[in-house]
Amino acid sequence: MVYDIIIVGAGPAGLTAAIYACRAEKKVLVLEKATFGGQITSSPCVENYPGFVKMSGNEFADKLLEQAMGLGTEIEMAEALSLENKGETRLVHTDRGDFEARAVILATGARHRPLGIENEEKFVGRGISYCAVCDGAFYRGKDILMIGGGNSALQETVLLSDMCHSVTVVQNLAFLTGEPRLIRKIEEKENVRVILSHVVEALEGDTDLRRVIIRHAETGEKQTLVTDGMFVCIGQMPENEGFASSVEVNEAGYITAGEDCLTKDEAVFVAGDCRTKRVRQITTATADGSIAAVAACRYLDK
Ligand SMILES: Cc1cc2nc3c(=O)[nH]c(=O)nc-3n(C[C@H](O)[C@H](O)[C@H](O)COP(=O)(O)OP(=O)(O)OC[C@H]3O[C@@H](n4cnc5c(N)ncnc54)[C@H](O)[C@@H]3O)c2cc1C
Repeated sequence: MVYDIIIVGAGPAGLTAAIYACRAEKKVLVLEKATFGGQITSSPCVENYPGFVKMSGNEFADKLLEQAMGLGTEIEMAEALSLENKGETRLVHTDRGDFEARAVILATGARHRPLGIENEEKFVGRGISYCAVCDGAFYRGKDILMIGGGNSALQETVLLSDMCHSVTVVQNLAFLTGEPRLIRKIEEKENVRVILSHVVEALEGDTDLRRVIIRHAETGEKQTLVTDGMFVCIGQMPENEGFASSVEVNEAGYITAGEDCLTKDEAVFVAGDCRTKRVRQITTATADGSIAAVAACRYLDK
């Protein structure tokens, strides 16, 4: 079976692309390796998607999936490993065999880099967040921690300091790595303190995160920070290694593409958080999904 379009990733970008492509009467297969709905399923409450005052990430993901499947999208649980150019078609090699299509949309998203320590998964959405823009409002008036000292962490600290009672920045290095302008802003904030040269050692709490144990990077001395929540901002992890020979990938691992969602391969398109862009949110992912699908349909109809 040769599909018109194979979409890699069933997050907001991939499922939106599927909706648009199916409505253009294309035969569409979506490959998903883990969770239908992508990252947003980790969010207990989404309050910034236009037209929906409040919904859980899972609710949004369920609706997207229902809409895509209702229009005829086929779904396979499989991890796409690489692409092969067969001339008229592209072969997607996966851990469950090969799938073939005349066009491919890569919508593999990006994962916030986790700390990689025990209990982290358990507390996601229960005191641990990776996105201040998304979840900051839930911590209004609270005392929270920000792990990380780069530009993103400092930008998020500025945002959080306006709504939280206090923000404690914990940075593993002996200095903050963000821009001087941002560091000055942080220094001016009375409710922000910075703890340098410390790494997170352990996370404690019953159902919700309550205590974070940090360790001095050189002396090994430990201290316990009691907190209402912890934001982790130590970079993102796109997972595009397998496609790096088919499309251009920048040094951080994102697929290089503009708002047109085109890649160097005329039959391969890219949508959502996995491409180079400034704002990674559902609105921008769904926008990309529609743009990539329309571009793929135009390519197929040429
Ligand atoms: C905790 C949290 C809260 C958030 N809250 C908000 C919010 O309130 N508002 C907002 O706008 N945004 C929020 N975001 C950001 C938002 O979720 C993302 O911007 C959005 O999900 C990006 O969509 P995407 O489809 O590009 O990527 P993703 O959602 O990352 O989806 C990509 C999908 O591709 C799959 N995949 C990856 N590689 C492969 C492969 N090789 N083969 C098969 N499948 C693959 C992944 O498993 C995933 O399901 C939040 C993110 C997090 C983590």
